[in-house]
Amino acid sequence: MLEVPVLIVGGGPVGLTASLLLSRLGITSLLVERHPGTAIHPKARGINARTMEIFHQQGIEDEVRAAGLPPSKAGFIVWTRTLAGEEIERRVPWGQSEKRAEVTPVRPCLCAQDYLEPVLRRCAERQPLGELRFDTELTKFEQDDTGVLATLTSTKSGETEQVRARYLIAADGAQSRVRATLGIAMQGERDVYDSVNVLLEADLRPWVQDRPSALYFIENEEMRATFLTINAHDRWGFLVNSLRAHGLKPEDFTPERSVEMIRRAVGIPDLPVKVLGVAPWVASAHVAERYRDGRVFLVGDAAHEMPPTGGFGMNTGVQDAQNLCWKLAAVLKGDAGDALLDTYNAERQPVGKAITEQALANAASMGRMEKTLQGKGARREFLNEQGMIFGATYGSSAVVPDGSPRPAVANPVTDYMPSAWPGSRAPHAWVRKDGERVSTIDLFGNGFVLLAGAKGGAWADAARPLGIKPLVLGDEESWREVYGIADTGAVLVRPDGHVGWRSADGAGDPGRTLGGAMAAIQGRA
Ligand SMILES: Cc1cc2nc3c(=O)[nH]c(=O)nc-3n(C[C@H](O)[C@H](O)[C@H](O)COP(=O)(O)OP(=O)(O)OC[C@H]3O[C@@H](n4cnc5c(N)ncnc54)[C@H](O)[C@@H]3O)c2cc1C
Repeated sequence: MLEVPVLIVGGGPVGLTASLLLSRLGITSLLVERHPGTAIHPKARGINARTMEIFHQQGIEDEVRAAGLPPSKAGFIVWTRTLAGEEIERRVPWGQSEKRAEVTPVRPCLCAQDYLEPVLRRCAERQPLGELRFDTELTKFEQDDTGVLATLTSTKSGETEQVRARYLIAADGAQSRVRATLGIAMQGERDVYDSVNVLLEADLRPWVQDRPSALYFIENEEMRATFLTINAHDRWGFLVNSLRAHGLKPEDFTPERSVEMIRRAVGIPDLPVKVLGVAPWVASAHVAERYRDGRVFLVGDAAHEMPPTGGFGMNTGVQDAQNLCWKLAAVLKGDAGDALLDTYNAERQPVGKAITEQALANAASMGRMEKTLQGKGARREFLNEQGMIFGATYGSSAVVPDGSPRPAVANPVTDYMPSAWPGSRAPHAWVRKDGERVSTIDLFGNGFVLLAGAKGGAWADAARPLGIKPLVLGDEESWREVYGIADTGAVLVRPDGHVGWRSADGAGDPGRTLGGAMAAIQGRA
């Protein structure tokens, strides 16, 4: 029987990211995907800057960007009666604004899921420790105190094989069989509105090239639809929402009817259009009641399903995988106790809930769930969610509080205040390292890192024997201000780039203090 430390079920963006992360952490894994290849529909397209930071830290940012569109091709969000008709409103999303550079040096990226997944697959397959098997379905599993026994079935030949894994990551999407088998309930609202996604070929440049946007919302008496930019030239998504409100059913979207609707949405009756595919889907806004069940962990859409308004589903999932994988690696290597694995649920489930609520609020403000076609503008928070993207703050036993008050912001969705308050994302600040100006974001991603002030050498000495990479940073740049420490202080950043512990200044016994913090974080206390 095959034995692997980690079995990943699902080769969507989240499962593929988990495979890559585990390999880079030195953990062998097997990923199974029931389809013969990666996604054929461009569902997610907006990769937010926090997710791009993760890709940057894993060394794959350039490959992802090469598959996506440059920012110059998607700088706006546009509301219009028809593409050729009267424009109603135009906005610059926060991620495309100059303010973004103060928060992160890493830009968001527009890259359709069917272009992104092959990149993630390639990057995961390049790693010797991560095996990926397509045409392979998880058909059964059971767990005991020592591991998970899984039955894998070839979707081509029907042959089965048994695999024993220490842990199972369920990245098997919104209809997760793993979740259902475990009887984990979803909390929230199911089926909040219905939609159809049409993938099409048409040259829309005459109506878009002077206002390059990620989204063109079509709002008129007859329809509420969206053109989704894919290559900004001749490949587009066409999303029709609130079908019931228009008296439509998914079956109505025959290729002929789809072409007719697209022409009406553009406002050009004889526009050449080719329909490449039609995918109906129903938006839900619900979150698993728990993300962990023994040795099984839910990530991505298996853990939370949310309306795509705001573009958070895949981003939240990638960030789940990033939170989970370093913890699994630490436990599998014997560095951490099982309690660290409980912090995955404690940290990510509240984040999943909060984001799902906001995605639903975006959808509601845009009239997605209405029975009538009363036009409503998207609320101010829509695509202005930097507080939610960068301000996710964890409270669990893997974070050691320092007694300071949590930084307060007026609106946690839109407002982000850079801070190294324990539990928060270690903020971006410029520092000098080996004579070079780099962002703190460049310093994190694969292990524990200790940032110490210029007189924090004792913290650095304490860090090395604990397997923490110490960096004593000078004051050429004003990084300590945002990190909230004196030149004798230090901040411990976890492998996921979140602050695990902070000391504003020196301590009598740095070895004991830091050792105690690491033991607490790693669930060994
Ligand atoms: C119209 C639309 C627009 C969107 N826009 C955005 C956006 O801009 N930004 C964003 O972040 N998100 C967006 N999303 C959401 C995003 O597409 C999902 O959140 C994302 O696909 C979730 O990734 P995942 O890997 O968790 O699951 P999935 O992509 O669903 O992948 C799960 C995989 O598991 C496989 N699988 C299932 N069961 C088994 C089994 N038993 N054995 C083996 N394999 C199995 C499936 O075949 C599938 O490939 C959008 C969604 C839609 C519909």
